[in-house]
Amino acid sequence: MQFSDLALSAVIQRAVAAAGYTTPTPIQEQAIPHVLGGRDLVALAQTGTGKTAAFALPILERLHTQARPQKRPIRALVLSPTRELAAQIAEGFGAYGAGTGVTQAVIFGGVGEEPQRQLLRRGMDVLVATPGRLLAFMAERIVDFRELQVFVLDEADRMLDMGFIHDVKRVIAALPTKRQTLLFSATMPDDIEDLARRFMSSPVRVAVTPPATTVEKIAQSLFFVEHGHKRGLLLHLLGDPSVRRALLFTRTKHGANRVADVLERAGIAAAAIHGNKSQGARERALEGFRRGSVRVLVATDIAARGIDVDDVTHVIQLDLPEVPDQYVHRIGRTARAGAEGIAWAMCAPDERPLLKDIERTIRMRIDVVSEHPFVNAPAPAREPDTRGPRGARHGGRGRTAARHSPHKGGGARNESTRGTSPPGRATQPTAAPARTQTRTFRPGRR
Ligand code: AMP
Repeated sequence: MQFSDLALSAVIQRAVAAAGYTTPTPIQEQAIPHVLGGRDLVALAQTGTGKTAAFALPILERLHTQARPQKRPIRALVLSPTRELAAQIAEGFGAYGAGTGVTQAVIFGGVGEEPQRQLLRRGMDVLVATPGRLLAFMAERIVDFRELQVFVLDEADRMLDMGFIHDVKRVIAALPTKRQTLLFSATMPDDIEDLARRFMSSPVRVAVTPPATTVEKIAQSLFFVEHGHKRGLLLHLLGDPSVRRALLFTRTKHGANRVADVLERAGIAAAAIHGNKSQGARERALEGFRRGSVRVLVATDIAARGIDVDDVTHVIQLDLPEVPDQYVHRIGRTARAGAEGIAWAMCAPDERPLLKDIERTIRMRIDVVSEHPFVNAPAPAREPDTRGPRGARHGGRGRTAARHSPHKGGGARNESTRGTSPPGRATQPTAAPARTQTRTFRPGRR
């Protein structure tokens, strides 16, 4: 299918071509005709699938073909869980809508309120907002939804995870009941199903790339390592020059800062991005990462939501996430828009129950790297915990496995004879492997 097969105006087709898109992604192919037809839509799609354009293009089509109202009442509202994602969605509307005359604005917390008040007073066709700041302005009665036609709830499951679901419901309660509602979510927990039942009218359902198939595009490896050796292992892994642009996940903000410091001290350009950083600092870090002056961006899950950076070569998880779906979200930051990606995750003994949950969720076993400098290295006496105060659940499943090397060497290698680089580092054979997979790992691809 081509974009020209979709019933979009020439001006929008041109903007899409200018963005460099040649063919619609599967979610765009499936969603756009329904949205253009005015249907409510529930779309199961993750970030990276092209979902922003899947709702932005038909909304722009609808709005720009209507007579343009004088006062720019809000005709479409998009709710997003994070400010980064909100900003990117608004940018998307700006880019795809260039030449249509449709205007958009974004409001989110963490920055001054007054400029956003002025935006609301001036009016816009499309408002992109995070729920908290929007509700604050709604309480001031400066938001008028009387002309609203389309409501988009983006990353609905993330709204739930972040505790925004009540805020979302309060916003929905203030919208006209006669409207088109589009709901995008990477997963469909019961609470989101419930939301769809209550607030949508006979929605069409579309789904693309459920997690199990999405993750198959990503070459995933697992490193068993004590907490106290994680940073040492990280520095070792970053010795691989093919790690050009890495997104590194830690569970806590504090952990993110500390790792960024360790990397900087080791001469590796790194920056941390999380909720305690000012908006300016986050934008600078993100911009450096996009431009390439920041090689490693250290992020917490919440801060990483919606980061739209293509060509992330590696996603590295210093800590396993407590929520298995989060693993899928994390590794989905690489392999964007069809590219292949590499994901490395570290697992300390007390994280094994988390690993078990993750592997159940993704319905596959992650290949274990058999040889690295910290295999079987005993926990250091004073363990510099990378995980922060929440700690991990305890228990273990006693799995020791020998798998692949993350570094050079190329070609197939046998269990326990795999080398590791950078060269010159000592390696130790692991205990008897308990895994049965025999896939071959090649650096940079699968
Ligand atoms: P999203 O899932 O909306 O975050 O989009 C993921 C990435 O895919 C963004 O970098 C978009 O610019 C890009 N993208 C969206 N639609 C297309 C398309 N039809 N062809 C190529 N890239 C696209």
